[in-house]
Amino acid sequence: MAVFNGKGVYGAVAVGKALIFKRQAAEVRRVSVSDTDAELERIEKAKETAVEQLTAIHEKALKEVGETNAEIFEIHIMMLDDDDYNDSIRSIIETQKVNAEYAVAVTSDNFAEMFASMDDAYMQARSADVKDISNRLIACLSQSGEDTAVSGDKMIVCADDLAPSETVCLDKDKVLAFVTAFGSSNSHTAILARNMNIPAVIGAGRKFLDALKDGCIVGVDGHTGEIFVDPDEETIRRLEQKQADDIKKKQLLQELKGKDNVTLDGTRVNIFANIGGVGGIGAVLANDAGGIGLFRSEFLYLESEDYPTEEQQFQAYKKVLESMAGKKVVIRTLDIGADKQIGYFDLDKEDNPALGFRAIRICLTRPEIFRTQLRALYRASAFGDLAIMFPMITSVSEVQKCLDMCEQVRNELKEEGIRFNEETELGIMIETPAAAVISDKLAPMVDFFSVGTNDLTQYTLACDRQNAKLEPFVDTHHEAILRLIEMSAKNAHANNAWIGICGELAADLTLTEEFLKMGIDELSVSPPFVLPLREKVRSISLK
Ligand code: PEP
Ligand code: MG
Repeated sequence: MAVFNGKGVYGAVAVGKALIFKRQAAEVRRVSVSDTDAELERIEKAKETAVEQLTAIHEKALKEVGETNAEIFEIHIMMLDDDDYNDSIRSIIETQKVNAEYAVAVTSDNFAEMFASMDDAYMQARSADVKDISNRLIACLSQSGEDTAVSGDKMIVCADDLAPSETVCLDKDKVLAFVTAFGSSNSHTAILARNMNIPAVIGAGRKFLDALKDGCIVGVDGHTGEIFVDPDEETIRRLEQKQADDIKKKQLLQELKGKDNVTLDGTRVNIFANIGGVGGIGAVLANDAGGIGLFRSEFLYLESEDYPTEEQQFQAYKKVLESMAGKKVVIRTLDIGADKQIGYFDLDKEDNPALGFRAIRICLTRPEIFRTQLRALYRASAFGDLAIMFPMITSVSEVQKCLDMCEQVRNELKEEGIRFNEETELGIMIETPAAAVISDKLAPMVDFFSVGTNDLTQYTLACDRQNAKLEPFVDTHHEAILRLIEMSAKNAHANNAWIGICGELAADLTLTEEFLKMGIDELSVSPPFVLPLREKVRSISLK
């Protein structure tokens, strides 16, 4: 038996036969051609096929991993249409009089290298995407089949790394787990794994791949990140026991549906769920969340090819509110910029996008966008219990401008005789240290705070949340972060405002007791974490 260690990205256990993932990388040869027009035509046809394939993958991803995670395949479709990428392919074919496959392969290498050498972690990640789309294009040109198909028995897929499209194309019913030798826990592949509920470990190292033989037995512990190649009987027994415990735990959690989120000594907390679009409502209801604590409205914009109209937004918000049947729904206004870029916003490139023109800064600079969204939100407020939340707040004047804009919109709707809920709660995200430090000034202005620990962590610890290299430096339990949350909670309560946490830290069960002691009123987590969090809350005594 050989033991390897990686990073568990989905906490579950599997034991089974290994399938070494092989790409049918078509060997690309340089062939001189005389009819370059024919090659250009072949490229166009291959692109059409690639777009068809990616559209199908996108649809599959939408169903299996949700809108947020499926978005990468829309990006791939857009990349196939990128002018620079296509100009490069065309120019290589025309000037060098070579075959299309060769032109794509050279373009792929050049672009991938260019992206990899950029400082920005987000752009570096595009390097893998260029390779992914180029390999697809080459496969379409040579009409070679898809990658390794998993057939017959369920297997443990082992690969050097998996591209997002490869991950989603794995047939969930035939994959017991997957292990990659490389990759970071912030990669799209890791995020997809979490959402596909497949045990997964990444970054097991080159030696792990060397130790494998097709069909050998592999044990994967997604809780600890351990991988066992040719495990001994005792290890198999231990893993099987863990697997049985996991199943029992999942069943027990189901029994918590309908139960209160109350500690042993009677303290209640709201447990809500985070979603990125209307498609997430099913998971919210299936996991018995008490409401939606964060609806990331920017995904409506990310999924559109142009600014979504007031009517389109109204319909989406109304649908969420109606589906939640009177339960609270906190919709966050547009939070783009930084890692979420949208072409039609035509934003300038920035050296430090996380510290740049994003979120509320865009809305306050371009009030026509903000106003349209607020009108849609207020109109939807007549159909449920809506709360509106503003992201990336740093100052009193920003909050005042948001409140003024809301008042203006309410007056407009009144004049137009359009129904809305006058009592719609207004709140802000506490996700900059500045907002936490002046929370005594901000709290009297709003009905609630919601702590965005993802950004609060990156700004407090000065660690870019997109940069995989910084993982060892990110201490999510850092005292500075916890003190900022506690300070915000005190100031919220002193001013009759409620406070929630909607960043990833809300799901960290080792902090639940501390959060409840701080008086946090609401924890909003990904839908699969609702029941484990309820279980945790019910086991705590604050006395
Ligand atoms: C956060 O920053 O914690 C948050 C919830 O917002 P997002 O992750 O969308 O930036
Ligand atoms: Mg944030």
